[in-house]
Amino acid sequence: MNNLSKHLILVVDDEKRVRESTALVLRSGGYDVNTAEDGFDALLQLRNDPLPEAIISDLNMPQMSGFEFLSVVRRRFPEIAVIAISGAYESGDHVPGGIIADAFYAKGHHRPEELLRTLAELIRTRAEQAAHHREQPAPVWIPRNGKDSKGVPFIVLTCTQCLRSFPLSIPREDVHEVQETPCLFCSSPVRYVIDFSLDVKSPTWHEPQVKANRAKLGP
Ligand SMILES: [Zn+2]
Repeated sequence: MNNLSKHLILVVDDEKRVRESTALVLRSGGYDVNTAEDGFDALLQLRNDPLPEAIISDLNMPQMSGFEFLSVVRRRFPEIAVIAISGAYESGDHVPGGIIADAFYAKGHHRPEELLRTLAELIRTRAEQAAHHREQPAPVWIPRNGKDSKGVPFIVLTCTQCLRSFPLSIPREDVHEVQETPCLFCSSPVRYVIDFSLDVKSPTWHEPQVKANRAKLGP
């Protein structure tokens, strides 16, 4: 890559208005921008298009949420820097627990210069970030499964080394952190985050959609 080529950024947001305004800010900052409507749409683009240097992704989206999408990105494309954006957190600059991103930007704050500064810093330190990403296997994003016959919540984990799946009883489902357990078969550590996307409601997240998603996930 030479200095004349622009850095390519992928913006992922289900709200057209947000997607376009974010793209506008980035283009004004001298970046090339692609956009996607949700996690699946973004993954499709990552398969066909040149890889972006950074991804800016919303968290609450239908189909595949940003939480899940970002864990897939970290696993498959550890070289891509990621900024999570959301209207659901009040937290300032730090990345909220359990979100696999390099930086966080609160949607409601409307400080585009801050987003551009964060992005420039991530692109500048890209090689270090990528090395850091490769050191630790990316956690898998695990859907909640419900309870076993004894009423204890459990999840099904797939080992990222031997690819076998096994059930795991858990004391609590609402842990917003990366957790780790040895694989039942090969003892490799499996890092995981239990889906907490429904605990985190952004102001634009409509109630009927939440109910529909809950129905899909089961009791
Ligand atoms: Zn294993």
